[in-house]
Amino acid sequence: MSLLSIVLPSYNEEQNIVNTGKVLSELMEKNGIDYELVFVSDGSKDNTYAEICKLEQMNSHVKGAEFSRNFGKEAAIFAGLELASGDAVVVMDCDLQHPPEVILQMVEKWEAGAEVVEGIKNSRGKENIFHKAFANIFYGIMSSLIKIDMKSSSDFKLLDRKVVNALLEMPEKETFFRALSFWVGFKKESVYYDVRERQFGSSKWSFGSLVRYAISNVTGFTTLPLKFVSWFGVIFVILGVGLGIQTLVKFCMGTAVEGFTTVILLLLMTGGLIMVSLGIIGNYIARIYEEVKGRPRYIISKVTDNMPEQVKGAWKKND
Ligand code: UDP
Ligand code: MG
Repeated sequence: MSLLSIVLPSYNEEQNIVNTGKVLSELMEKNGIDYELVFVSDGSKDNTYAEICKLEQMNSHVKGAEFSRNFGKEAAIFAGLELASGDAVVVMDCDLQHPPEVILQMVEKWEAGAEVVEGIKNSRGKENIFHKAFANIFYGIMSSLIKIDMKSSSDFKLLDRKVVNALLEMPEKETFFRALSFWVGFKKESVYYDVRERQFGSSKWSFGSLVRYAISNVTGFTTLPLKFVSWFGVIFVILGVGLGIQTLVKFCMGTAVEGFTTVILLLLMTGGLIMVSLGIIGNYIARIYEEVKGRPRYIISKVTDNMPEQVKGAWKKND
């Protein structure tokens, strides 16, 4: 019988762990699915890890790990993928905003031959208007840049073992799970769901962290912004030549105007564009710098008793 791993990145989710664990285990047991729950506490500042250990005592299908600090949801997802041993892996939020029943449809499609089952949002649930607008703009840009429709995509998906292994082989440190699972290819199916409301705790995303996430994902996936920089240059050269000829002609004809306003406007425009271009280039250099350092994606400080011995051994060395 095949094993289904459910990976749950958790950051300050002490109120959710036990409840989510219970809901998922009941669902799996009722439907006769062999499963494991892999909780990754992302350097939580509350009792999330203690709750994971408590849940593990109650349910032998649970295992978990704790990061040495907050490394972000992406890192927690990848740690979960690495620690999962199932033939298929479902990644979902541990606040039950991703409806657990949808996992059954995902498993059905997987058993029918799909290798990636994407969870697609019917609606984005209750988000504030800025968050919604920002998400729309960001995913609009991303979709056209990487030629994949990302507007309704989420981190809620099922991946076959082959796909998990392909993802784990990618060397980059800054990942974008949502788009990478498109990028790797494989046979895809979709299931649709409505985002539920959070019962306990609150969302971990601030506007600033969303903007950083967006920039990192755009630079991680496409070099198109760098090409914009060249286009800015070409457009300015063409404009410059045109304006230069006009100015010279006027000068020769003795009708040159006193062009203070024009000069100031041109200075401000070119100055602005140069700064923006430097910013774009800088972002890519920063990314190269981060990747070249070759630091690990995350550092695990503790793993629970249910982790396989070799995993425990590997992390104990860091004690
Ligand atoms: N999360 C995480 N690390 C972080 C932020 C969030 O592991 O730095 C987890 C969080 O515990 C939750 C999931 O990612 O399981 C989604 O986070 P959240 O519910 O805050 O986001 P939202 O649903 O509001 O988009
Ligand atoms: Mg949530």
